[in-house]
Amino acid sequence: MLRFILLGALLSLPSPAAALQVQQPPEPPRLLDDVRFLSDDRLQGRMTGSPGADSAAEYLARRFSQVGLQPAAGGWFQSFTVGREAPAARQARTGALMGRNVVGILPGRDPVLRNQTVVLGAHYDHLGRGGFGSLDPDSTGLVHNGADDNASGAAALIQVAARLAASPPARTVVFIAFSGEELGLLGSAHYVQQPIYPLAGMMAMVNLDMVGRLRNGRLIVYGARSAKEFPALLDSLNWYAGFDLKAQGDGYGPSDHSSFYAAKRPVLHIFTDLHEDYHRTTDDWQKVNYDGLKRVADFSLGLVTALANRTSPLTLLELPAPVPSQIAAGSGPPGYGAYLGTVPDMTGAPGGVRLVGVRAGSPAEKAGLRGDDIITRIGGAETPDLQAMTDALRSHKPGETVEIVVRRGASVTTFTATLGARGG
Ligand SMILES: [Zn+2]
Repeated sequence: MLRFILLGALLSLPSPAAALQVQQPPEPPRLLDDVRFLSDDRLQGRMTGSPGADSAAEYLARRFSQVGLQPAAGGWFQSFTVGREAPAARQARTGALMGRNVVGILPGRDPVLRNQTVVLGAHYDHLGRGGFGSLDPDSTGLVHNGADDNASGAAALIQVAARLAASPPARTVVFIAFSGEELGLLGSAHYVQQPIYPLAGMMAMVNLDMVGRLRNGRLIVYGARSAKEFPALLDSLNWYAGFDLKAQGDGYGPSDHSSFYAAKRPVLHIFTDLHEDYHRTTDDWQKVNYDGLKRVADFSLGLVTALANRTSPLTLLELPAPVPSQIAAGSGPPGYGAYLGTVPDMTGAPGGVRLVGVRAGSPAEKAGLRGDDIITRIGGAETPDLQAMTDALRSHKPGETVEIVVRRGASVTTFTATLGARGG
């Protein structure tokens, strides 16, 4: 009987394990839920200034609060207006717009270093119902859900915040979900003009934009050449993470980190590369690689922790701003030269531009090009890299017929393509 009595007595006491469970935040990983909410049809593609974007902003502020962030000085939202006459509003054929960045902070635990910050950002706006920015020819009026672009980054942002809140680093971490990115980096440009925390005390900015399509373990980190210490830091973090890591490039690029690099801060852009659904109605949550997204969030957590705890400063490397056409061929803004419809491999390939794929119905597809082809010449001009390919396409007009030389496996073949117009 003693055993039973003893057992009974033990059972009536709260066990240490139960007490521990009560103390831990009961917040399960919700990466999938966050991606699904943000890329649901109900949010109508989260166009800056739309009711769908407002719902997304409210949701993000609620999630920031749930995982343990505090509102920034001034509150969760930083509003900015896009005037009716602003180029973005005119191109998108909208009236004046009100965009809202969502800003939450995790105060640093070091009494001195907490006055310095690391910014982790991800834009949450997308293309709404198509038209402006869409690469689908007949997509106007159809919801563009933007699951990879960039519900994936916003979900990873929440995930990193939740994990970091459990054990805050020395410096303050500022989490920003930007709006206005698709209209021309407007939310990040506004933040840099009116920073809530001084830019001088900002160690670095890390941008999560399109991180939901990890394939073959290959992770791109742009901006690796924006600070002298970045390549070694990224390498050491990857020793654990085990990605096929492509750390490269300066701090300019077609996303929000560019605004911070222009303001002379070191930046990194984490990216799982372009794909055939980029800026199309098919960028849906079902196609997100959740294991991959979780790995990217883990890597980002390690990166932000290392930056926010580091004892020595970073050395900014300043490189000249590129010409505006540097955005990848096939993914640039409308109105730039002729359209081919290729999806280039952003990490480059020796001697040419490797394709990840071609867009359905595009001139490239009609000409017979396909994924894994390496384009070495367009219309007589050599195309050793994306910049050369962009320049080659810009030198032609829509409707022109050009010869495209392609390396496919061991053979070299010449295809003929009739170029189209961009932004159709
Ligand atoms: Zn985009």
